[in-house]
Amino acid sequence: MKKFHIVFALIMICFNSFAQELSYYLPNDVSYNAAIPVPEQVIGHHVGEWHITHDRLVNYMKAIAASSPDRVKLEVMGTTYETRPQLLLIFSSKKNLDNLEQIRQQHLQLGDPAASASLNTDNMPAVIWIGHSIHGNEASGANASLLSAYYLAAAQGKKIDELLDNTVILFDPSFNPDGLQRFSTWVNQHKSKNLVTDPNSREFNEVWPGGRFNHYWFDLNRDWLPGVHAESQNRLKKFQAWRPNILTDHHEQGSNASFFFQPGVPARVNPLTPEKNQQLTARIAEFHARFLDKIGSLYFTKENYDDFYYGKGSTYPDVQGCIGILFEQASSRGHAQQTSNGILRFPFTIRNQFTTTLSTLEATIALRKELLNYQRDFFKMTLQEGTASVNKAWVIGEAADKARTMHFIEMLLRHKIDVYELNSHISADNYSFEKGGAYIIPANQPQYRLLRGIFDKTLTYKDSLFYDITAWTMPLAFGLPYAELNAAKYSPSIKGNKVDSVSMPVGTIKGSKTNYAYVFEWNEFYAPRMLYDLIDNGILAKVAGSPFEATTEPGKKKFNYGSIVIPVALQKTDADKLFSLLKASAEKNGVDVYPLTTGMSVSGVDLGSASFTNISKPSVAMLVGPGVTPTDAGEVWHLLDQRFNIPVSQLEINIFNRADLNKYNTLVIVSGSYSELNKEKLKAWVQNGGTLICMEDAVQWAAQNGITNISFKKIPAAIDSSLALPYASKNDREGSQQNYGGIFRAGIDLTHPLFYGYQQPYIDLFKAGKTFPEKSKNPYANPAIYANAPLQSGYISKENYAAIKNSAAVVVSTVGSGRVISIADNPNFRAFWLGGTKLMMNALFFGRIIDAGSGRGEE
Ligand SMILES: [Zn+2]
Repeated sequence: MKKFHIVFALIMICFNSFAQELSYYLPNDVSYNAAIPVPEQVIGHHVGEWHITHDRLVNYMKAIAASSPDRVKLEVMGTTYETRPQLLLIFSSKKNLDNLEQIRQQHLQLGDPAASASLNTDNMPAVIWIGHSIHGNEASGANASLLSAYYLAAAQGKKIDELLDNTVILFDPSFNPDGLQRFSTWVNQHKSKNLVTDPNSREFNEVWPGGRFNHYWFDLNRDWLPGVHAESQNRLKKFQAWRPNILTDHHEQGSNASFFFQPGVPARVNPLTPEKNQQLTARIAEFHARFLDKIGSLYFTKENYDDFYYGKGSTYPDVQGCIGILFEQASSRGHAQQTSNGILRFPFTIRNQFTTTLSTLEATIALRKELLNYQRDFFKMTLQEGTASVNKAWVIGEAADKARTMHFIEMLLRHKIDVYELNSHISADNYSFEKGGAYIIPANQPQYRLLRGIFDKTLTYKDSLFYDITAWTMPLAFGLPYAELNAAKYSPSIKGNKVDSVSMPVGTIKGSKTNYAYVFEWNEFYAPRMLYDLIDNGILAKVAGSPFEATTEPGKKKFNYGSIVIPVALQKTDADKLFSLLKASAEKNGVDVYPLTTGMSVSGVDLGSASFTNISKPSVAMLVGPGVTPTDAGEVWHLLDQRFNIPVSQLEINIFNRADLNKYNTLVIVSGSYSELNKEKLKAWVQNGGTLICMEDAVQWAAQNGITNISFKKIPAAIDSSLALPYASKNDREGSQQNYGGIFRAGIDLTHPLFYGYQQPYIDLFKAGKTFPEKSKNPYANPAIYANAPLQSGYISKENYAAIKNSAAVVVSTVGSGRVISIADNPNFRAFWLGGTKLMMNALFFGRIIDAGSGRGEE
């Protein structure tokens, strides 16, 4: 060991005077196994000297696993979009590792009240998940993982033996590999030999969109519940396979802050999280305090951060008998930065993260039995609550949209929630649920609390300040009919087979090849993907602007607004090729296709009617880059690319200003600031026939810059300016007037092209921020309007609520021969708002055919 230290000292002198020896970080009363490589032997630099890149991190973790097979088992959970491996190192004693599967099975029984009573927790190891840097540019966590892994593999003595005997440590060095790689590349490429600490320097000011996000610019620390992304799905599989007792989530905060650890703000704990969870969090916090006191680091608790939204890594575990712990270290961002507390050096930030991993491990040992018993009690109590609840089961599903229903069930199964097929048709809450098109989720199951976290509407709050969104009621987000079934409405006989997995529905051609026309409906989630696929293959398709009833092989069938008709004679492709193309596309997209042999309808318009309009291929561009909200742009990119196979050009504003726009017929502008955008050029493009889709505050930008005439509702003043108010109440008063985001219901016009394919006369949208458009004076230009009581779930101040009432959710404006579709809210929110997807797709495909010029005056 000594030999190593001399080598390090020499390397240090050669490199950089602020690079730290391992002794700076590691406990000094422990000896280390010299056979285990120290980080610099593998990564080529000291910890904290350069930012670890993800590939080097992987190399080190592999080296640790290879050199220490008696203490660690390395697994690859899966890969990210950019094909980086997501590693999980499992540290424990040799004896435990030899019996790992048995330990896992036994541990899982804590979540099964039928089996847990007979478990003896005296000798069971606690399971702890240590996780780092889900925000890639909060890198001290991932860099500290080098030290933690080294410590766990190399430390010698009674203490580490006791730890490994009594725990199974699931060690995730990087929650967000793609973001970490992006960020480390940025800071390393700007590092100077003589560290520059000026916050203005490029090292500290990442280029858009920054390393916080994953490949598609999503915040993965909002995705634990929705589980939309590959990274989350891979991780959730392991989380549910183990159900740890503690999960740690190492982040960074602003550079002028100190260090935060949970518990957070007591009034902002989700009411579904038990008191005992917060008590245990506070007991664990005593260990963090003691360890940080020892190294002289400042910290705070019970402020700023909360435990409310179950989509976050430190909150998701709290509703499953586990203790989630958030750590927030002040960020040096680069290698050393001037702050109000002096120069904040990267190694210092890494040391705090590593130190709180040590304190967490010590707490786990001290509270092992209590944590295990708590988890057992949690699931026992939760099952009892579910069994005793008035609601006996939820029923959910839309028979007309099997894919969207499938995605919802897929999400539930990801969290090991028990789901059953619906065995017979039932009606509840004015909805009709069909066998084969809906599912039953019983309340009497151990995940009852998480289920409530998914299904409940929330309308009362202890606090009016929030760290994140105030509501996420999932069935509303997915736009699916659902109902609670009480004892009078529920009987076990409606519960069919248990559902173990779901898969994409497979569409078929309902009949034989025809020489006349094919029709498919627009209600299925992936119907737009099918339409794009066909148009992209040169197929001419028309959309029905009126309903009709046709004779099909299975019988007479009604086709609604938005149905797609493909006349065989108008195609350049021959009938055989068309048939096989349709068959393949129907199968892939879960959409049934109906061959027709005559243009004469049973009722409604005939197929040659002018009510059918040709659909041109959307050629889509979206503004991106500095000023644009990356997550909102990422949602559009992910939606079009991942879900619908539609290419979208990402235009930086300076490129937009000089590009030829004629190749695009659709332009998307999400929330952001667009002061550098050439608005005359944009307006001319719309006037020439372009379709501009604006969302959230971009709707206001377009109005302020003369592209639309939309006016906006005024928000009543919340504070009487004649009053003298306590200075200390300023934050709370102003914070309560923010709109953090809730769920609001707008009435919709099902005959309007923007709402083709919707089954209910309403849409539930996620509304955050303060864009409250007045209705257009053109009576045909407001296809979605918030009425008098639109709040479904969430917190809203009474002043902001007054402005939402009777405002427009969607306004269509004619500008020359083009149009602007203004959507006041974000229909693509976090990629789980599948209820808004069809609106977005309709804007893309049918925006160009909307006749918005009727009515009085141009809007
Ligand atoms: Zn963070």
